[in-house]
Amino acid sequence: MAPPVHITFLGGLGEIGRNCAVLESEGSLLLIDCGLMFPDTDMLGVDLVLPDFTWLLERSDDIEGAVLTHGHEDHIGALSYLLREASFPLFGTELTLGLARGRIEEAGLLGRTEFVTVADGERWEIGPFEAEFIPATHSVPQGVATAFHTSQGTILHSGDFKIDLTPVDGRLTDLGRIGSIADNEGIRLLLCDSTNADQPGHSRSETSVGKVLYNLMHEQEGRRVITACFASHVHRIQQLADAAIAFDRVVAPLGRSMKRNITMARELGLLTIPDSSLIDIEQVDRYEPGQVMVLCTGSQGEPMSALTLLSANENRWLKLTPQDTVIFSSHPIPGNENAVTKVIDNLFRLGAEVIHSGLSDVHATGHAKSEELKLYHSIVKPEWFVPVHGEYHHLVAHTRVAETMGTPPDRIVLAEDGDRLVLDDDGLRLAGRVPAEYIYVHGTVGDVGTGVLRDHRILADDCVVAVIVCVDRSARRIVAGPEIASRGWIHEPESGELLTDLSDRIRKAVEKGLADGADLGGLQRAARRATGGFVSERTRRRPMVVPVVLEP
Ligand SMILES: [Zn+2]
Ligand SMILES: [Zn+2]
Repeated sequence: MAPPVHITFLGGLGEIGRNCAVLESEGSLLLIDCGLMFPDTDMLGVDLVLPDFTWLLERSDDIEGAVLTHGHEDHIGALSYLLREASFPLFGTELTLGLARGRIEEAGLLGRTEFVTVADGERWEIGPFEAEFIPATHSVPQGVATAFHTSQGTILHSGDFKIDLTPVDGRLTDLGRIGSIADNEGIRLLLCDSTNADQPGHSRSETSVGKVLYNLMHEQEGRRVITACFASHVHRIQQLADAAIAFDRVVAPLGRSMKRNITMARELGLLTIPDSSLIDIEQVDRYEPGQVMVLCTGSQGEPMSALTLLSANENRWLKLTPQDTVIFSSHPIPGNENAVTKVIDNLFRLGAEVIHSGLSDVHATGHAKSEELKLYHSIVKPEWFVPVHGEYHHLVAHTRVAETMGTPPDRIVLAEDGDRLVLDDDGLRLAGRVPAEYIYVHGTVGDVGTGVLRDHRILADDCVVAVIVCVDRSARRIVAGPEIASRGWIHEPESGELLTDLSDRIRKAVEKGLADGADLGGLQRAARRATGGFVSERTRRRPMVVPVVLEP
């Protein structure tokens, strides 16, 4: 009997985000991705959600490495947490590793890992596994599918992908190689992206978006244009920049990750924007509105992102006016709809025009829709199938696609986070469960502020201050509070006085926000800033602040 292979899912099966799976053979572990999830708006005070690493950390010495399929946060964003507790090398393409590196460096963990650059078509031996990297088109360049050649045959992990026949960089999903593996050695198990399994038809090609953007830029002649997309979507950035430059606009990147990624992608030769067409946001006022395009982060309504701050009129260099058009070159990820809608409302309040994917074809998904999945299944012809990367209903929709394409229902395993499967000579089946809770991270995060990410464990040994204020925004006044609760901050007799002073400080900050017409997010940020500033000034502590601003 050949040694069995176990597959344990720590995240990504039941939500879009925190993708993380672990392959195991002969006592060795190999991670496939290690991502985070952005919280729903109802997770107050939570900035990030991580996979539960409890089980993995009991075996941290057995980790041979992590294969990273591409550079999205839902696949690489949790590495800067896991690497605090475990040390292992990372395997990925040049851009994927470049994107992963930023967070790891910020967390001071470069010494805990090694970056191993892999190229398309290469095979790498990692412990008892052999990983083969196969090009895949997606909404970030240099994504891969990975064929793991194991003692139990080939396990194909699709990565996030679509079948784009005219991608911006001409690098196609290598269906030929996948077909060749399928026809020769056969594919024992397919793990495949389910994000768009319930969507009919084919996804649009990324290059089709470029034409739409060009026409839009034409229509916006004389107006200032602010565009937002994912900072890692290098091909979208290229097409936005091309459209701007075609109409003699300069490009002003806004947001830390946007600036950083543009610099990196230009260095790697993945993005072409001439020096003469790039300006600093500080210089934006020197240009006529019709001569500039601002390219910013925050297309998902992320709380501290460039666009959210712009919509709250909180950017130092740029104030929006009715002269401005904001283009969301994006589509809200499930769970982010409310946050995006709030940003759009606030942009309209400032008088700006807003164009989003509901109005115009300014976005194309990076995930295969059902017809593409059918094509993929017809080529892979897997013996066993597990849908991954999706909410539960996406996974269910994907099982139907697989059945349509001839995989018998008893060869499909609908697994969830925490499930541990075994693949052996008898086939694939459930072999147990491991912890898979949502692990919440609090603390300042995003494009502004240098806030080092701090995780939930700080709760146990550091300083937490929670602030609750109830406001009436239409009357522009505080109805109740601020209520302050703290743990690990003050025990001294003078605490009564400190709390009164802090309460005054918060009240003033929130009242100022109310007078300026800030929304709840803006008020929350004001309360957070006032509290953090006060606590560090008066007691030299760096608290975790959990601000909650409510309306009755
Ligand atoms: Zn993903
Ligand atoms: Zn992705």
